[in-house]
Amino acid sequence: LFVAFEGGEGAGKSTQVRLLCEWLAARGRAARATFEPGGTPAGAAVRAIVLDRAHTGLAPRAEALLYAADRAQHAHAVLHPALAAGEVVVTDRYVDSSLAYQGAGRTLDLDEVAALSRWATRGLRPDLTVLLDLAPETGLARARGRAAADRLESESLGFHRRVRDSFRALAAAEPGRYLVLDATRAVEDLAADVRARVGALLE
Ligand code: C5P
Repeated sequence: LFVAFEGGEGAGKSTQVRLLCEWLAARGRAARATFEPGGTPAGAAVRAIVLDRAHTGLAPRAEALLYAADRAQHAHAVLHPALAAGEVVVTDRYVDSSLAYQGAGRTLDLDEVAALSRWATRGLRPDLTVLLDLAPETGLARARGRAAADRLESESLGFHRRVRDSFRALAAAEPGRYLVLDATRAVEDLAADVRARVGALLE
């Protein structure tokens, strides 16, 4: 089973990934928590490039290719092998982040960005994508004070609004494969909803 968490800054994705994997492990399921960008050693080097403030103003197509390279390595070295071994794989960000940030955010063609990710991952799609939906004003306020905060401020509110709207549109286009949650709700309530959905998929 392959589960992706998506959402904007400060939505609480990493907390929910951790809680889900702890619950799976307690039920005796082999669970692998992973993330993008940077979930492999080569990916960590790519992450350092894309998130370096010195590189704000990177060409959108260069940015899209770097995220795709990170994802290709992640799929090859982590996702495909763990799924083949029967593990439940839970990733903090995946293809939808590229559609939202590089596609809607940087205004690249969505179909082209999607094709790039399809190629990078050999077409690997999540069985379930959990969208932690949050107004960017709230998310940015939560995320402020973290390492990437400086870089966050370099994007306009309009950018983050396009990102959020894009995530929601992706979920609305495929309701059966998404769980959309209001990320302002309590952490434990959100985790319970995630467990209910993942538990049902594991039956
Ligand atoms: O999820 P995490 O905080 O690790 O992501 C780091 C940063 O990378 C975020 O600020 C996000 O805006 C950015 N990002 C992006 N495009 C992606 C994935 C992440 O711009 N495809």
